[in-house]
Amino acid sequence: MNIDLNAAHEEFRRYLKKEKHRITPERFEVLDYALEFEGHFGADELFLKMKNNNSNVSRATVYNTLELLAACDLLAKRNFGENKTRYEAKYGRKSHDHLICTNCGSIKEFSEPAIEKIVKEISEKLGFEPTGHSFNIFGKCTNSNCKMRQNEQNNS
Ligand SMILES: [Zn+2]
Ligand SMILES: [Zn+2]
Repeated sequence: MNIDLNAAHEEFRRYLKKEKHRITPERFEVLDYALEFEGHFGADELFLKMKNNNSNVSRATVYNTLELLAACDLLAKRNFGENKTRYEAKYGRKSHDHLICTNCGSIKEFSEPAIEKIVKEISEKLGFEPTGHSFNIFGKCTNSNCKMRQNEQNNS
């Protein structure tokens, strides 16, 4: 991934200052791990990854820093239909949407200009300024990997 961590740090620092949150090295450590994480992750997943890398950042700090990072738009907050909040890097990335397989759990990303256009058109029509959108397609993969995974789950 080609992201400018320094610029992201600068943006986060500005946000923390503006909102009168404490500026701590732990928060920037969470930022680095979050932006470097490939794909979508839950707060616990990130916490475990940091812990396994001998980080001393507490679970509570991971949780509340992720919320701050989402609030200042460096991360996107996602909900893929389970009772679990996930995050992914938004900084320096193109907006995209998701296909979620309810069978094997895989999540595919896609970018579709037609969706961006619809978001813009609807917002204009209804007098709204969009800051983001979420478009999820739920269903089942049509490849054989997915069916294999389903059989494994049934056998275990
Ligand atoms: Zn699948
Ligand atoms: Zn995504």
